[in-house]
Amino acid sequence: MADLEARTELLDDCVHCGFCLPTCPTYVLWGEEMDSPRGRIQLMQQALEDDVITDAMVGHWDACLGCMACVTACPSGVQYDRLIEDTRAEVERVHRRSPADRALRGLIFAVFPHPKRLRLLAAPLRGIQRTGLDRALRRTGLLERVAPSLAAMERLAPRLAKTEPLPERLPATGTRRMTVGLLTGCVQGAFFPAVNAATARVLQAEGCDVVIPPAQGCCGALSVHNGRAEEAQGYARKLIQVFEDTGVDRIVVNAAGCGSSMKEYAELLGPEAQAFQDKVRDVSEVLDELGPVAERHPLEVTVAYHDACHLGHAQGVRAAPRRLLEGIPGLELREVAEPELCCGSAGIYNILHPEPARELGDRKARNIVATGAEVLVTANPGCLMQVATAIERSGHPMRLAHTVEVLDASIRGRAL
Ligand code: SF4
Ligand code: SF4
Repeated sequence: MADLEARTELLDDCVHCGFCLPTCPTYVLWGEEMDSPRGRIQLMQQALEDDVITDAMVGHWDACLGCMACVTACPSGVQYDRLIEDTRAEVERVHRRSPADRALRGLIFAVFPHPKRLRLLAAPLRGIQRTGLDRALRRTGLLERVAPSLAAMERLAPRLAKTEPLPERLPATGTRRMTVGLLTGCVQGAFFPAVNAATARVLQAEGCDVVIPPAQGCCGALSVHNGRAEEAQGYARKLIQVFEDTGVDRIVVNAAGCGSSMKEYAELLGPEAQAFQDKVRDVSEVLDELGPVAERHPLEVTVAYHDACHLGHAQGVRAAPRRLLEGIPGLELREVAEPELCCGSAGIYNILHPEPARELGDRKARNIVATGAEVLVTANPGCLMQVATAIERSGHPMRLAHTVEVLDASIRGRAL
């Protein structure tokens, strides 16, 4: 357990004060100490002292959403993000999971970090959605009973439309102010191509040449968040290579989970990744940094903004997206109660743990609906899928959009 030993100092930072407990979604749901950040840290300490990892320990660590609300809440600066990442890597190295768990994880990692495979999957999914087969299957409840994780995947899939791939380079409108590279992402690229298209248009309108290398693959976020460090390193190295000779000033990311991992590449790969990491920005940070030059047309709409955990807690980006939305004439921004609580998406958590994810999704949907807003805006494909499903269940239909889609509509003078 060499990695855990190296983390002794990090573990000792926890003074067991419990300030993090009310912000931890699993503690809020179950009220169990061992399903709180403090409890999980105590289990890490125990694993280190006894040099053993039990099934029960793995269960409590697996149940953690990795939302990092505890990192925001902790007054002692405990780096729980590093602790849980290392612990998960150690679990994958030494712990034998059940055959069913191994099979499900194998399936997820054989598909999700592969943009081409996801795009291939999107084509038949579009057909199933068009014929209404998805709704018919859902009504039977069969998949839910036989394979709850597959049922969760089916429910989460957004309505898919066919779109053209983006070209390799798009020129700035007017004077060029910056050259940026755009990460198209795995889930974002396959399930939300309209968000990538809107991101490119907004960046162009704000004076950016946009470079979109077609050979880009996964950033490694899903792998690193699930203890598959070596796999994540491979993806990260390839992504750095793809952007290496593009001469871009910034690498723009519109998926919060990807951005938070890419901002930690130096930790994953070592100092040689520092230069790349320093260029990584969420799209809202770049647009906020540039300041608006494109005219904003009015959008008479009320918007509830949901902080994606990997944007708010992990990257500390909360003000920039709000400033951008508030810069649109006519738009009224409303805050969602319990903003620190995760919506239950958390990468692949809602597939691996569909029940607590559903409870958290329903709680988030209630808080969103209570704002009375017409549109829910968030900046992560996972949150968009999770919240859309929960809002549909709530029986209070509502439009959903990524921050850049709202800006794009305003800049183009179109309805949202
Ligand atoms: S993680 Fe931080 S907030 Fe939570 S118990 Fe430890 S010191 Fe307190
Ligand atoms: S990362 Fe989220 S779910 Fe995990 S312990 Fe921290 S607050 Fe709880």
